[in-house]
Amino acid sequence: MGHANKIEKVRSALLRWYRAKGRDLPWRRTRDPYRIWVSEIMLQQTRVETVIDYYHRFLQVFPSVTALAGADLEAVLKVWEGLGYYARARNLHRGAQTIVEEWDGELPGTLQDLLCIPGIGRSTAGAILSLAFEISTPILDGNVKRVVARLFALRGDLKSPGVEQKLWKLSGALTPKRGVHHYTQAIMDLGAMICTPRKPDCPHCPLRNECKAFHLQWQEKIPSPTKKNSRPHHQVALGVIRKRGRILIYQRPSDGLLGGLWGFPNYRSRTRKGLLRALVQGVRKDYGIRMETGNPVGILSHGYTHFTVTFHLFECPCRDGEKIRKRAFPAKWVYPGELKNYPLASSDRKVIRKLSAISRQQSVKR
Ligand code: SF4
Repeated sequence: MGHANKIEKVRSALLRWYRAKGRDLPWRRTRDPYRIWVSEIMLQQTRVETVIDYYHRFLQVFPSVTALAGADLEAVLKVWEGLGYYARARNLHRGAQTIVEEWDGELPGTLQDLLCIPGIGRSTAGAILSLAFEISTPILDGNVKRVVARLFALRGDLKSPGVEQKLWKLSGALTPKRGVHHYTQAIMDLGAMICTPRKPDCPHCPLRNECKAFHLQWQEKIPSPTKKNSRPHHQVALGVIRKRGRILIYQRPSDGLLGGLWGFPNYRSRTRKGLLRALVQGVRKDYGIRMETGNPVGILSHGYTHFTVTFHLFECPCRDGEKIRKRAFPAKWVYPGELKNYPLASSDRKVIRKLSAISRQQSVKR
């Protein structure tokens, strides 16, 4: 079968299937480039089911590019809280400001311009152009990469520049000049619903007749399984430092992990024995606060993308007169009831739940 013939057959089978089985998602009921941009950023690394509520909430609070550009970063992070990969929220915020400054608040409709906006890469730009502007532009997100690689039985590391270049070329060849809006949604859906990473549902796939991996029975071999490196593990002392009913929280630097989010001061230690010392010394060095004791109250585990942590929680009462004398990071004393107003990392939310559980247990025992 010729290449052009195969491409034509794939497109028409895909569209027929999409008309019958495609998903009805909130961001598909609009052609507003801003809404499509927000949805595309939220969908990076995150499942559709998780995104839906966040998408509605985000647009309720920031209904336009101008509203988002004019908001405080902290307010944006608060709405994003729990969705993870916070660089995406910071980029959306900076991106909105760029759009207001450079394009009068309207998302531009060309690839070169979209690529100048923080957080928009080639695939996201392709999705915005196809879905909002109906301009034929290929995409190559994780799902599409897999579908295309299987259709053409492309082996090797799909992240390597050589293979990626081939995939872009094939994705470009598959992308139709007309009707790109539906085509893009269709291939995204096929990757999410049928041609899944493990156990693709080939018997129900509309593309199986054209799929080289299916004919070779290579569908489980593409993409080639990668060896998972085991993630390093850290022991961290976390201080719930209290003064007259208030708790010390600090804000993480905006360019680091969980940038801009607030949380409880915490310090890594190589040994378990050294945990309390690391905490006491760290808090003195960073905030000038002198704590005399720290009582261990619990342990909790948390996984990040590249490492895992065991947090050792210490309750650290401070003397009444104790003040923040240094500010390595922005820090403040807040009442427990005020914590809900701050964007906090998921690990810090876990700490709050753990502390509530401990105090409930204690009141039952009394
Ligand atoms: S036949 Fe199987 S491997 Fe090929 S595109 Fe369909 S689901 Fe994917």
